[in-house]
Amino acid sequence: PENTRTYLIGGNWKSNGTIASLEKLIGEFNGAGPIPANAEVVVGVPAIHIPICLMQLRDDIEIAAQDCSLTGCGAYTGEIAASQLKDMGVTWVILGHSERREGFGMAGEDNELVAKKTKKALEEGLKVMLCIGEKKEEREAGTTMDICAAQLKAVADVLSAEDWANVSNEPVWAIGTGLTATPEMAQETHSQIRQWMSDNVSADVASAVRIQYGGSMKGANAEGLLSQADIDGGLIGGASLTLDFFKCIESVP
Ligand code: PGA
Repeated sequence: PENTRTYLIGGNWKSNGTIASLEKLIGEFNGAGPIPANAEVVVGVPAIHIPICLMQLRDDIEIAAQDCSLTGCGAYTGEIAASQLKDMGVTWVILGHSERREGFGMAGEDNELVAKKTKKALEEGLKVMLCIGEKKEEREAGTTMDICAAQLKAVADVLSAEDWANVSNEPVWAIGTGLTATPEMAQETHSQIRQWMSDNVSADVASAVRIQYGGSMKGANAEGLLSQADIDGGLIGGASLTLDFFKCIESVP
């Protein structure tokens, strides 16, 4: 069947930027070319920079948070509730990013926590880029799809079929390493993910769900990746901190 899914190009600025670098980048993005009609563009910005981005970034780029709280508002020091993001004008949240699963020295997020956050964010009306993906040793052991399936299953267990909208496949070994999955490698995993969705959620969800690729995607390799049948977009880290992000956007077929 023909791919009627709108491409989803996400940026992930991670914990980068100062007011000065942010204003420079916003200026560059605002002056860059048009966004193709068949693409949706969103950037995941550090929480503290959300208000500046909401006020200054071009209207055809939506804003994502990079995490949200499992809880609502209340006595949860340091947390940001999904409802607060929504109230602020944020429309998206990135959840389950491998860096948060890993924990960078803190307790990482497990599959169940990511699943609960996903449900909470969707209930509050946010759209979710749900990240999944295997580590290098897991790929080498041939368990890529087992890992992805376990991460997806935890979410499928708490969501109803109509809640599924996006999945971002991000092989951990490709993130920030300059190692990109080849288009064929990524396509193979993406088609297995879509098949898993068909077998475990529904055929309709499988054909509608957008599966982004993440892991060292950049202007120079975006076209090859985005031209694959089951690659519906990207989640772009390092390259989204420069105008190279727009090369990725322009690579949408
Ligand atoms: P990268 O990050 O593009 O810098 O590899 C991707 C991501 O973490 O989403």
